[in-house]
Amino acid sequence: MPHGTAYTRSPRCRNSKTAKRNYAVTQFESTDARRAFPSFDEPAFKATYDVTLTVDKGDTVISNSLIKSDTPGPGDHKHTIAFDTTPKMSTYLVAFLVGDFQCTGDEQDGVKIRVCSTPDKVELTHYGVEVAKYVLHYYNQYFGIPYPLKKLDLIGLPDFEAGAMENFGAITYRETALLIDPKTASVDSKKQVGNVIAHEMAHQWFGDLVTMEWWNNVWLNEGFATWMANKPIAAMHPEWNIEQDVVEDEDGTMNLDAQPTTRTIKARADTREEIEQMFDGISYGKAGDVLLMVENYLGEETFRKGVHAYLSAHLYGNATAEDFWGAQTATSHKPVDKIMSSLVEQPGVPILTFGKPEGGRVSVSQRRFYLSPSIEPKTEQKWTLPVCFRTAAGGQSCELLTPGETSVRIPASDLLYANATGKGYYRTAYPAEVYDNIVAHVETDLKPTERINLLGDEWVQVRANKATVGDFMNLVKAVVRDKNAAVVEASMGDIGSVYGRIAATQQERSGIAEWLRKTVSPVYEKLGPPSDTDTPNTRLLRSRLFAILGFYAKDPAVLAQAKEIANKYIDDQASVEGTMGQTAAVIAARNGDAELFDKLQKVYETSSNPEIQIGALRLMAQFEDPELDKRALDYALTDKVRNQDAAIQIAIALQMDANREQVWQYIQQHWDAIHAVLTPEMGGALVGSTGAFCSEASRDEVQQFFSAHKVASADQEVRHAVERINGCIELRKLQDPNLKKWLEANGE
Ligand SMILES: [Zn+2]
Repeated sequence: MPHGTAYTRSPRCRNSKTAKRNYAVTQFESTDARRAFPSFDEPAFKATYDVTLTVDKGDTVISNSLIKSDTPGPGDHKHTIAFDTTPKMSTYLVAFLVGDFQCTGDEQDGVKIRVCSTPDKVELTHYGVEVAKYVLHYYNQYFGIPYPLKKLDLIGLPDFEAGAMENFGAITYRETALLIDPKTASVDSKKQVGNVIAHEMAHQWFGDLVTMEWWNNVWLNEGFATWMANKPIAAMHPEWNIEQDVVEDEDGTMNLDAQPTTRTIKARADTREEIEQMFDGISYGKAGDVLLMVENYLGEETFRKGVHAYLSAHLYGNATAEDFWGAQTATSHKPVDKIMSSLVEQPGVPILTFGKPEGGRVSVSQRRFYLSPSIEPKTEQKWTLPVCFRTAAGGQSCELLTPGETSVRIPASDLLYANATGKGYYRTAYPAEVYDNIVAHVETDLKPTERINLLGDEWVQVRANKATVGDFMNLVKAVVRDKNAAVVEASMGDIGSVYGRIAATQQERSGIAEWLRKTVSPVYEKLGPPSDTDTPNTRLLRSRLFAILGFYAKDPAVLAQAKEIANKYIDDQASVEGTMGQTAAVIAARNGDAELFDKLQKVYETSSNPEIQIGALRLMAQFEDPELDKRALDYALTDKVRNQDAAIQIAIALQMDANREQVWQYIQQHWDAIHAVLTPEMGGALVGSTGAFCSEASRDEVQQFFSAHKVASADQEVRHAVERINGCIELRKLQDPNLKKWLEANGE
C-alpha cells in the first residue's frame, strides 16, 4: 500500500459501485483472505492458486494471472472463467475483481500491461500505461530479475479505502491515484499518479516475489517501495526534481519521529489491531529514509547489488530484516548491519551537535531529539550513522559515526555543513558562527536539497526553544528568492505554522501578512504570466507564491485574479494550466460565495475525471463563509459522498483556521451519523486532524470526547493529536514574545 493510505479492514468482497451498477472487488491485506477461502492466512505460508469464477454473462473478471479458459454456463446467464496457476505467493496478495471493466493495453519486455477502469473513464487510462511501461523496464534492469508474471493489470476502482494495493499481477487503485488526463492535470497530480504506480510496481518484486516473514517487518515492504518509487519517476522526469520532494518528506517524517509517542520501525505486531497500526509514517517514511541514507553512503551501484543479492537468495520465499542488511553488509563490506539495526531497533531521530572545526576534525555529540523542550530523555541513545560533509567542490565526504566516537574527520572547506545532499536521517546543530556562515552562503553554496534540510533543522530548533522564531524568519529572508519551488514550499510550510500556531493575536497575523506581501509580491511579479514554455518547476513556483499571497496576505488584487482564473478553470480545464488552475481554485473557494459552492457541487456530481471531481469535493470543505462551511459538512454526510471520502471532508474542514470551532461542534452534535460512515483508516485521519487546535480547553474536550466515543484503531492517533495540541500551546507561549520582537524590528 502506498504512503499515507494505511491498511484497510475491509470485508472479504467489497461492494464497489457507480451510479450504474455494482462491482465485486477484493482487498485481503493484511488478514482477510481467510474470509474468502480456507487458508493458512499468514505471509510465510506461500502457495500457488488456481482461480475459477462463475459470473454474469457480459461481465469480466480480473485476477492475478492470465485467463486460461472462458466457457458458457452453468445456465444461460452465466459464464465460467478459469485463470492460469499463479506463482507461489502469500494469501494476502490474491485478488479477483468482477464487473464491466474496460482496459487500455500494451506490451513491455514481453509482459502484457493493461490499465483498466469503469467504462466511463477508459479515456483516462493512457497515461498510466505509459508510466507502467517505463517503470516495468526500469525495474527489470534495476533488480536484474525480470518481472515474474506474463501480465500486469492496474485497475482503478470507484470505491476503495486504501490508496492502492499491490496484489501480484493485479494492482488496485483509488481512481484519483491512477486515472488522469495528462493534458490538463496539474504537476502535483501527475507526480502523485506516477509515484503510486511506481510504488505498487516495486512491491511486485519487493513484497510479492520476496515477502517479509511476518508483519513485524512490514517496513521491509513499505519502506522499500517508498524509497524505490522515486527512482524510475526521477529518471522518467528529471525536470520534476523528485529529490527535493524526497528531502521535504523526510523533514516531516523526522518531526513525527521527534515525538515521544513514536515507535521503533520494527515492532511487535501479533494481533490484527497491532498489524493494522504498523502501516504508518514510520513503516513508510522513516524506513524509506533509512534506505536512502544507506544508499547514499554505499553508492547507488553497490546498494543495487545488495538488493539483487537479497532478492535472488529468497525468490518466491520469505525473508527478515537481518537477511536484508546481511546481504548489504556482505556486498559492500561496510557495517550496514550496525547502521540499519541502530535505526530500525531504536525509536526516535538523532541530533548531532558539532563544535568548531579544528585541525581537520570536528567534535560531535549525539542524543535523541525531541521537538518539545520540556522532555528530558530518560535513557541515553546512540546510533551508528554515516555523516556526510559537504566538500569545497560541492560534493560529499562521508564518515562513519559510531556510538563511542566524539569527533570525526572533515574535508578541507571554508564551510562546515554536515548533511551533504540532505539525505542523512539526523538533525544538526552548530555553534553560532558556523551556523551564521552557512546562512551567509545558503543561496550560493548549498544545493536545493541542502537548503530544504537546513530550513527543517532550523525550524525544529525553534520548536525545541534553542533558536527564536526571528532567527528562523531571517533564514526565510535568505531563501525567499530561491528559484526552486520545493525550497520556497519548505519555508512557507513553516511560515504557515508561524501564522497559525505562534501568532497569538490578529495584529501579529496582519504583521506577518504585510511582511509577506512586501517580500513575496516582487518575487511573484518577476516570474511574469504563465507561458506554454514554463518548466514544471516554474509552474509550481508561481502557484506556490500565488498561494502565499492569497492565503495569508489576502491581497485584494490576488483574490480577484484567483476568482477569475478559478472560474475559467472550473468551466474548462483545458483553458488554464492545471497547477495554477488548482491553486486559484483553492484561494477562490476559501474566499468564495454560494454561487461558487453550487458550481463546485455540480462539477462533483457530473464530472467523470477523478482529479477534477474529487478536487471539487475537497474545495467544498474549504469555504471560510460559516454558512457554506456548514453546507459542506451536511453534504459530506449525504449518500452523494462515498464513505471513503466523507471523513476526509470533515478532516479538511477542521484544518481550516476560520471555522475550526464550528466544525468541532458539528462533529460532536452529529457523531452518530459521522461514526456510521467512518472506515478504520479514515477514522484515524479524522481523529488526527483535531491536533490542529491550540488551547488547553480544546485539548481536554478532544481527549474527553474520544475517550467516550471510541474510534477503532485510532488510540495512537488520539495520543498524537493531544501531543500536537500540547506542542502548539508550548510553542506559542515560548515564541510569541519573540515573534512580536521580530515584527517590530522588521517594521511591521
Ligand atoms: Zn506499499
